[in-house]
Amino acid sequence: MKCPFCDFLDTQVRDSRPSEDGSSIKRRRICPSCSARFTTFERVETRQLKIKKRNGETRLFDVNKLVRSIEIAIRKRPITTEQVDEMVSNIIKKLEKCDDTEIETKAIGQLVMDEIGKVDQVACVRYASVYKDFSKAADFSKFIANIGDKE
Ligand SMILES: [Zn+2]
Repeated sequence: MKCPFCDFLDTQVRDSRPSEDGSSIKRRRICPSCSARFTTFERVETRQLKIKKRNGETRLFDVNKLVRSIEIAIRKRPITTEQVDEMVSNIIKKLEKCDDTEIETKAIGQLVMDEIGKVDQVACVRYASVYKDFSKAADFSKFIANIGDKE
């Protein structure tokens, strides 16, 4: 598995264990090149969930991509891997409850932001900056002002 931070190819598995409810196997990995730690999940696919991108294309939902996007947003923030696991399982539970088999990237982005936002607002803004594709400083200030409103 490639390191999501530096693209080094030969990352090592430190630890594998099933999740609490036994529906997935979690592997903690470490990158020998940049020392990044990250987690991958293996789970039985209950159904083929598809992601509909903004340009109309669809692709299969990939939980590991979801985990990586969260890990990049929370890098160097005081968030534990257990908290990430919880975010991911909350997001997946919500996705599995959806009746649609096609989910828009926008909807997933919102689910992820809700989960990260519960734990760390800096990471939430960081995630949003990638997912919402902020291009100017004003986009940031508008977004941060909106977070403030919810409190
Ligand atoms: Zn690395």
